[in-house]
Amino acid sequence: MRSYVVLLGPPGAGKGTQASRLSQRLGVPHVSSGDLFREHIKSQTDLGKLAEGYMSCGQLVPDEVTIAMIRERLSRADSAQGAVLDGFPRTPAQADTLGRLAGELDGAVRAVVYLRVPDAKLVERLTGRWTCRAQGHIYHSRNHPPKAAGRCDLDGSELIQRDDDKVETVTRRLGVYREQTEKLIEHYRNAGLLLEIDGTQPELAVAGSVMAALKGRLD
Ligand code: AMP
Repeated sequence: MRSYVVLLGPPGAGKGTQASRLSQRLGVPHVSSGDLFREHIKSQTDLGKLAEGYMSCGQLVPDEVTIAMIRERLSRADSAQGAVLDGFPRTPAQADTLGRLAGELDGAVRAVVYLRVPDAKLVERLTGRWTCRAQGHIYHSRNHPPKAAGRCDLDGSELIQRDDDKVETVTRRLGVYREQTEKLIEHYRNAGLLLEIDGTQPELAVAGSVMAALKGRLD
């Protein structure tokens, strides 16, 4: 039976980092809707061109499009044991679809890991993030600054800020999270699936708390 674990939390809570660790521990793919959209944008597919407009201003890509993309991803052979989902679902309609889709694929959502982080910390984390133009190496103005200002330590290329990490867009992304995604916390709590984790701890401590909370849930 396929097991799906969902990472839930606001942008900047550390979902990507923890989902990547967890997928290695569980031996199932890390499926990030944001990364899938970014790949489409890079290859300039029709889906990428459509998603880009929404993403650059911090809005959600419409459900229909997002759901079709995730359905295709979860049907691939590498997801035969399940997946760790990062950034999906983000709306009640997406959560309903995921429940149905998991059933169709003879699986179930086994746990929803909710990373709790206060707003002030999220803004600091997101707006301080800089990405190298050449290869996407990630820096943070406070937590992981480059040796020379504005230049990548590894390849010397210019550091740029992702459009959706600019202050105005970050504020909009947090607003969208409050309006559309936060209600999923209650939904999954009522379903008995929610595991609440303090996302302000150091990365390794968060990973330890996640593994401890998942114990017994995936057998
Ligand atoms: P992320 O990397 O998860 O922060 O996602 C970056 C952007 O991709 C979001 O701000 C949305 O514009 C879009 N996106 C990612 N996942 C979803 C989703 N499940 N539903 C709608 N839009 C999404």
